[in-house]
Amino acid sequence: MSWQDIIGQKLQVSILQKAVSSDRLAHAYLFAGPEGTGKESVAFELAKVLNCENGFAAAQTGSCGICRSCRDIDNFMHTDIEYVFPIESALLEKNDPAKAENKRTTDARERYDSLIEQKKRNPYLTPSMDRSMGILTEQVIALQQKASFMPAENGKKVFILSQPEKLHPSAANKLLKLLEEPPEHVLFILVSSRPESVLPTIRSRCQTLKFSRIKPSDLDNWLNKAYPDLQDEMQRFIINFSRGNLSVAVDMVNSCQEGGAETFEGIAIRDSAVDFLRKVLSPNKLAEAVSGTEELSRNHGKQEIIALLASLLLFFQDIHHRTIDQDWNSFNNPDLTGTIDRFVRNFPNPDFYALSTATEEAIRCIQRNVNPALTLSAYAIRLKNLLGRS
Ligand SMILES: [Zn+2]
Repeated sequence: MSWQDIIGQKLQVSILQKAVSSDRLAHAYLFAGPEGTGKESVAFELAKVLNCENGFAAAQTGSCGICRSCRDIDNFMHTDIEYVFPIESALLEKNDPAKAENKRTTDARERYDSLIEQKKRNPYLTPSMDRSMGILTEQVIALQQKASFMPAENGKKVFILSQPEKLHPSAANKLLKLLEEPPEHVLFILVSSRPESVLPTIRSRCQTLKFSRIKPSDLDNWLNKAYPDLQDEMQRFIINFSRGNLSVAVDMVNSCQEGGAETFEGIAIRDSAVDFLRKVLSPNKLAEAVSGTEELSRNHGKQEIIALLASLLLFFQDIHHRTIDQDWNSFNNPDLTGTIDRFVRNFPNPDFYALSTATEEAIRCIQRNVNPALTLSAYAIRLKNLLGRS
């Protein structure tokens, strides 16, 4: 990856590029913006630029991507780059020889390694360990220790902290101390999609760089270039339902490619989604819909369930447009005009904000590996309440 490979975020990239070439980087940044907008990939690219063996050229155009330093960063093996995110406390026991080999620790280590592997395949992923208690004090102590050494080579140490809103209170205090007297040779990059939850004392020590949602046209251009073999229909579907979240888009493309393009059927998934909604809303069929979620989650993989929920989001969007404007006809689902109009008649003025929030929350649960059947049942009940008919 190089500056040119960053999708969208032209302004943010040019700000950083200028700061690098004029040697005016802040000592700490907070990259803030919605999930899946490429904040962490920009952080890693900046780390590569500052350590690339093609120093001067890299500052102008971006990292070379092939020197040893660039490759080590891509493989999460560079000694001067620290990547910190919320982990399970069991992982820390690797430092304790008596506990290092116990099952809890080795299992946690496996989960950690598999997250890093996922992150290599999908640079837009925000890693999260389910049993994590947040960013732990020991992780920040390790940073303090590493900060006290000079970088091994000519470059700069870069500490990338993902999800600083999840810093454990005593970890936050220690980080604050580091940020108050930052060593010259360390660059801190905090990356958050919930910057309002980052401690104000920490926030005020960082220069905030805001990231915006990826535009559909940027996503379209990138998919054309990166995945020229993607079917048009699938590409449209991915652009629509990822809604500017690159992490979702990349996951979708990967799962299409792993499963073979023909196994991903956007329309079929959308139809099961509308069918699910129909059951939820029919009188006396809620119980059936809820018990059907078990089967739905057995028959569909994680990405398909996300696609299913996302297509409901697009369906609600169509209904919203049609509710406001009866002549609206740029539908996401042009083949469902009849169904959309029936919905508008039967459910006048639903709370669209609540509907989309509920759907987005369900998507996030699935992304975080919450049990899909449970997530879908809870979602079904919520839809029923929101659309107010029994
Ligand atoms: Zn390089």
